[in-house]
Amino acid sequence: MLRILALLILTSINCPRCGSPNIVKNGPTHSGNQNFKCIYCHKQFVQDPRHQPISEETKELISQL
Ligand SMILES: [Zn+2]
Repeated sequence: MLRILALLILTSINCPRCGSPNIVKNGPTHSGNQNFKCIYCHKQFVQDPRHQPISEETKELISQL
């Protein structure tokens, strides 16, 4: 179940530069956070899941599990 939740949260990530949802994992950073890369503008960024806001839609899905 946790894996499904992680997937839901991951798919809600958008590029901070161009807003594209087409994000690929780009390996972990030296500090252990997941590094992401936008396949459109090639911007690399780190999304800390602890700071990732959970949308109302996701909360609703979680409550239904
Ligand atoms: Zn981008």
